[in-house]
Amino acid sequence: MKIYPVQPETSEYLQDESRLRGAADEIAFPETEEDVCALLASGTPVTLQGARTGITGGAVPQGGRILNLSKMNSIEEPENGLLTVGPGTLLCDVHKKLEGTGLFFSPDPTEDTASLGGMAACNASGARSFKYGSMRRHIETLRVVFADGTAREIRRGEPVPPEVPLPAYRVPDVKSAAGYYVADEMDFLDLFIGAEGTLGIITELTLQLSAVPNAIWGLTAFLPSEKAALGFVQKLRKETAPAAIEFFDFNALNLLRKNPDLPKLAPEFHTAVYAEFHGTDDNVEAAVTEAAEMMADFGADPDAAWVAMESAELERMRLFRHALPEAINQLIAERKREYPELTKLGTDMSVPDDRLEEIMKLYRQGLEREKLEHVIFGHIGNNHVHVNILPRNPNEYERGKALYAEWAKQVVQMGGSVSAEHGIGKLKRDFLRIMFGDKGIEEMQNLKAYFDPVGLLNPGNLF
Ligand SMILES: Cc1cc2nc3c(=O)[nH]c(=O)nc-3n(C[C@H](O)[C@H](O)[C@H](O)COP(=O)(O)OP(=O)(O)OC[C@H]3O[C@@H](n4cnc5c(N)ncnc54)[C@H](O)[C@@H]3O)c2cc1C
Repeated sequence: MKIYPVQPETSEYLQDESRLRGAADEIAFPETEEDVCALLASGTPVTLQGARTGITGGAVPQGGRILNLSKMNSIEEPENGLLTVGPGTLLCDVHKKLEGTGLFFSPDPTEDTASLGGMAACNASGARSFKYGSMRRHIETLRVVFADGTAREIRRGEPVPPEVPLPAYRVPDVKSAAGYYVADEMDFLDLFIGAEGTLGIITELTLQLSAVPNAIWGLTAFLPSEKAALGFVQKLRKETAPAAIEFFDFNALNLLRKNPDLPKLAPEFHTAVYAEFHGTDDNVEAAVTEAAEMMADFGADPDAAWVAMESAELERMRLFRHALPEAINQLIAERKREYPELTKLGTDMSVPDDRLEEIMKLYRQGLEREKLEHVIFGHIGNNHVHVNILPRNPNEYERGKALYAEWAKQVVQMGGSVSAEHGIGKLKRDFLRIMFGDKGIEEMQNLKAYFDPVGLLNPGNLF
């Protein structure tokens, strides 16, 4: 196992995609579970890293040692619909491994260079989670190293041991990756999924695979207004069974228009909705035809819609979606040169189905009132859009933060979650307290202390 000192000025390992920068004395690259156990024996606090694509600073160290799991990237052969991987294995490598097997792994964060350990730690999800669910639903077994240096396997179906001090709260019934998962029906395994590396270190995962559907079609509709797009979304999810429903507001399309490598977007396209359908050839074709008729009811021209039927076309659609967060990150990186304290303010909140129009209205009202530059896109099927506030100076940054906190309170009042998929990390700790209150945070801290009494694992994450 290699351990290196960290160069404070230059090391890329002191930050993740949030661009928050931290500090650490050294960085270790364990290659086996035994290495991980041995590293904990020294009693030095560790910050765990997968691929550092996280955007909440969860993998950014606050002193101590970085434990980077990228070298633990083994992939076994798929067997009985299951695939066992090391935590540092990248999602894109899982996709490659499964090519031609008739099987696929459904959680699909837009960033496919994420590691499976990081994805489990954040309970990651993606566009297709609308149909298939987040990481939690697709993990059969985990191997976990605990803070005391012991390791064990935890299987789906194993109950939470009675001595574990579970919090009294229950997670809301919306897409969520905020805080420790506690539900009436849960397994021991569920505690470590979405715990952001604060309760144990994931050293191996056995993933549940799904059969590749006979047909996958993607449909991008261009609506004349946001109101029309929201109406289309409501009707789509009521009357068809899409695998994914994604949203791009007016500003998102404008940002994409600036990228010469992407397909041209006609000037009259105001808002876009992407829907993906999985099934047999016949029922997928029928669903796309039905969706095309529906979009016409909302003022969209079905002939101008993009239909993707082949995997190469679907991949182009994925790259199109991926181009957006990348363009936003680039913009913020440029602004940071003048004002290093700026970060992107990207929301990640979800609400129940019947609150979609209300939350979109609140987002619009707040942005208009504060006159903040912004881009809205994301997983609207789950009422989960990312409002990206793009501050141009420190004053806008502060106003944007205040607006975000205002929305977090409103989302919680609606029964929603302050983080649907990115987790809390170090940047969204205040929102976790808004969601669970002082009592809930105290209960989480008790649970953390049970597994990690000295606070060795990922200090600074969650609280
Ligand atoms: C362009 C872009 C698009 C994105 N789109 C999505 C999206 O659609 N959906 C989504 O869910 N996310 C998305 N993300 C966020 C990110 O990809 C996910 O959070 C991903 O799960 C992080 O994986 P990682 O390997 O990079 O983890 P890291 O960033 O390295 O770590 C994330 C957290 O997990 C912990 N961790 C890492 N490995 C382990 C381990 N083995 N055991 C315990 N804890 C561990 C870290 O300490 C940290 O707290 C996006 C990010 C980018 C940059």
